[in-house]
Amino acid sequence: MKIKDIKLYSLKIPLIKEFKTSLRTVKMADELIVKIESEKGEFGYGEAAPTAVITGDTIASISGIIKNYIRPLLIGEDIENIEKLHFLIEKAAVNNSSAKAAVEIAVYDLFAQNYGAPLYKILGGYRDNLTSDLSISVNSPAEMREDALKAVEDGYQVLKLKVGKGITKDLNRVRAVREAVGDQIEIRLDANQGWKAKEAIYIIKKMEAENLKIELVEQPVKADDFEALKFVRDNVYTPIMADESLFSAEDCLRLLKMQACDLINIKLMKAGGIYNALKINSIAEANGIEVMVGSMLEAKVSVTAAAHLAAAKKNITRLDLDAPLYLVEDPIKGGIKINGPEISFSKNSGLGISKIDNLVEI
Ligand code: MG
Repeated sequence: MKIKDIKLYSLKIPLIKEFKTSLRTVKMADELIVKIESEKGEFGYGEAAPTAVITGDTIASISGIIKNYIRPLLIGEDIENIEKLHFLIEKAAVNNSSAKAAVEIAVYDLFAQNYGAPLYKILGGYRDNLTSDLSISVNSPAEMREDALKAVEDGYQVLKLKVGKGITKDLNRVRAVREAVGDQIEIRLDANQGWKAKEAIYIIKKMEAENLKIELVEQPVKADDFEALKFVRDNVYTPIMADESLFSAEDCLRLLKMQACDLINIKLMKAGGIYNALKINSIAEANGIEVMVGSMLEAKVSVTAAAHLAAAKKNITRLDLDAPLYLVEDPIKGGIKINGPEISFSKNSGLGISKIDNLVEI
């Protein structure tokens, strides 16, 4: 199966409610969709979410890199040579992880279709169903309490509270939610780099002393300050997860050599696709570090790919793939089925995506 063409499309979907973290407020999912066509008319889909404040990528940079640097290398290549295709994409440019992820997701979609199996079966097939957490935007304690109660009503057993906006307020946010949902609901926190190392240690110790039962704290401090991450990790009991600190396999090696974190969060948009995500997971697994798979504010194409990755591997024990639920509509036909926290797969080959409405070619 040879690659005949690669087309790019814009897909914009408004959010039901503003999504707020300590880094940004989002009102619209502004996605780039990649469609790779084979000579025989088969097609594979990929997606990139431009998250300028985390990956540095924008729609313009993603489409420019794909059109001018990646596309010319892949036309005419055979989809069966997945290792070769990965390195063609990887060597096309440094950085630009979201552009690489979008193309590589489409490549893997076609690769699995070529063998007539769902992608997660090709990648490992460890489990057939997944359960995701739900993220709660950082807002007033009262609003987060309401959002958390609604999530529990909708069947979520694990909530990820966005914090990192003032440690006194953050403490009140966590107290309010824990009091509202009771002790049976798992609560994890994501500070999105919003704390200084000493603030992080202060607030985490306080939460430990108050028995607020926090499962883990994600990215408490600045992404590039591995020493600060380690300082926090060494001074609290609660497990610390690296997210924005870890894009590549090399980042993973450095963090784990330093023993700077207890857990890691892999996102396809940071890793630059499935091949690197698998490599990072293997490094983590060999170091006894469990992995969460998360996403940016993405629609269902790349989230479907992330779910296939997560289902494939034993070491991926946590899931944060709620992003498609924030969107007012789902123009993507096929792919994973999301029923509240439960994610299931169809028997269709590849990602199982048959059609995407509302695409505008760019
Ligand atoms: Mg995070």
